[in-house]
Amino acid sequence: MHNFSNQNPLVSTIKGLCRVCYTCVRECPVKAIKIIDGQADIINERCIACGNCVIVCSQGAKTYYSSVNKVEEFIVSQNKTMLCIAPSFAAEFTEIKEYKVFIGMLKAIGFDYITEVSFGADLVAEEYKNIFENEKIKSVITSDCPAIVNYITHYHPDLVEFLAPVISPAMAMAQVVKQKYGDEIKVVFAGPCIAKKAESNSFDENLTFLELREMLKNKNISQENVTASDFDNPISGKGAFFPINHGLLKSINKTEGFGKGEVITAEGKVKFKEAVNEFEKGLLENHHLELLCCDGCIEGPGMSKGVPKLVKRMNINSYVNNKISNLSFEKWEKEKAEFSNIDLSRTFEPQDRRLAKPKKNEIEKVLVSMDKKQEKDMLNCGACGYINCEEHAIAVWEGLAEIEMCLPYTIEKLHKSVDDLNKSNQNLSDTKQALKQSEKLASMGQLSAGIAHELNNPLGIITLYSSILKDELNTESDIYDDIKIIDEQAQRCKTIVGGLLNFARKNKVNLKETNIINFIEHTFKSFVKPENIEIKLVVEIENPTVQIDNEQMMQAVTNIEKNAVEAMPEGGILNVKIWEKTEDFIIEISDTGLGIAEENIEKIFTPFFTTKGATKGTGLGLPLVYGIVKMHKGKINVKSNNKPENGQTGTTFIISIPK
Ligand code: ADP
Ligand code: MG
Repeated sequence: MHNFSNQNPLVSTIKGLCRVCYTCVRECPVKAIKIIDGQADIINERCIACGNCVIVCSQGAKTYYSSVNKVEEFIVSQNKTMLCIAPSFAAEFTEIKEYKVFIGMLKAIGFDYITEVSFGADLVAEEYKNIFENEKIKSVITSDCPAIVNYITHYHPDLVEFLAPVISPAMAMAQVVKQKYGDEIKVVFAGPCIAKKAESNSFDENLTFLELREMLKNKNISQENVTASDFDNPISGKGAFFPINHGLLKSINKTEGFGKGEVITAEGKVKFKEAVNEFEKGLLENHHLELLCCDGCIEGPGMSKGVPKLVKRMNINSYVNNKISNLSFEKWEKEKAEFSNIDLSRTFEPQDRRLAKPKKNEIEKVLVSMDKKQEKDMLNCGACGYINCEEHAIAVWEGLAEIEMCLPYTIEKLHKSVDDLNKSNQNLSDTKQALKQSEKLASMGQLSAGIAHELNNPLGIITLYSSILKDELNTESDIYDDIKIIDEQAQRCKTIVGGLLNFARKNKVNLKETNIINFIEHTFKSFVKPENIEIKLVVEIENPTVQIDNEQMMQAVTNIEKNAVEAMPEGGILNVKIWEKTEDFIIEISDTGLGIAEENIEKIFTPFFTTKGATKGTGLGLPLVYGIVKMHKGKINVKSNNKPENGQTGTTFIISIPK
């Protein structure tokens, strides 16, 4: 036997194959599996080597120590090698019709002798019979399943005293073989069990049936190319029933009973634990427990997958019945007597591997971190692999589980991420929209600059000559009024072209340290304020000194203020507020005017967009503002309400500029 350790574990994960489906976490009867680095890894100290994870992993990501190389070494060594085969072979090698052919195949591998472990079971069964029938022994837990022994010694150390003080059939058989064939012989077992590999030092290696198949395949051995042979002595009897449900009882002609001093059987990873728990609580006092970790050894992890359970049972039954009908009882009894000197006794040591349990508030803390704050949040769905939310929380506290294993929690988190993603998507599309707008304005700017430039000169000439003409004409002249109109309109054209040139002005600002409060107060003087309009200034800025291009910013702010005044023909309040954020200072200009229709909000920064009619508006004010704010690396936003039913109408322009 090997000393299995963290470095040399009996059962382990094949890195990379694990897809973290939590099936093994869920199925491990002792919660010995933890998600480490995205892999469901086995915690060696906690593992009872039942091999359940090997059975349930659909990805083949769980493996166990292979004895094949060691056994091949034994075969080629000087020593004789004995293979003791577990009777469950009849449930595994179902394709081989005659057991003697199978023995021939095993001999062909190179084993010198082949015996059946069930002779050891025959001896042990006798011992159990004595215990069960001994009035003085009230309760006992069978100890022939090594995973059960691990379970009791690690997780129910208080029950160790109840473990039957009897060696296992394999350990008994190892002694038999050594007594009969000499101490030098290498004793190899073959069976359906992984835990057996770590059961005892009394034998050298333990192959699973799957490993045995591998050896047959390595040597190209088939039914056709071997000579049939028979088992070597000693020949076994009913002990061959051991690997099926109630097998031990069957081998000693007993049935399950619930009366005092009778035997209760429990097999499989759920039932054996329930039985132990009930036993521990004293509910099964004065009963013996026959426990198997698997659903009978024939369901062990060392068996091929996919063979129907009842077929396996049937095969064992017919093999054993056939064997018994051919058995010479006289010879069998004689052989049993020959080995009656063998010491079948055994003791067990508790090896407490239980973890400290968290306090109630510590469990609650974990539950809260999984968004489980009230009773109704405890779905107890079991998707995490634990029977309820509390068990999961305990495992998290113990460092065995992660909160992400909670499916409802993870789904909730996913929903939130989707929401966040949607939000940032929305932001992105807003920014895209703004970018499109600024691109549009930029190309408009280029176009208008071109046109304005071309028009500027002829316009200059028209205004020059029209004003000369006007000056030379007598005001009484017939055409004086006509010339006057030409002159006025030509002047208006010049203003528009000037505005266009302003709008298209190249990105140049002449930043100067400016007291923003004085500056804003000054803007109020740049336009004529009607009587019915009140101006209010609010200042919430600590240091009023900012960097701006005075001339341009004056144009921008007054443009907005003029618009505001124009939007309040019936009077109102022009509110200006100066405030700040960490990086920016903000000028907020709002009016209580008519507001902007929703469909126009998008258009107001487009050159020539005006709702004021061709003679009054140019539609160049806000495009200019936009250009100036951009040149200051700032932002401009508009909020407006033009529907009295939604409250006070009016418009607010918010300009934020880096300090
Ligand atoms: P103009 O003032 O020559 O019309 P602007 O570019 O300054 O050109 O403004 C464009 C349009 O935006 C205006 O015609 C008006 O419809 C709208 N607008 C701007 N500011 C306001 C405001 N404070 N209240 C209502 N509408 C406004
Ligand atoms: Mg305007």
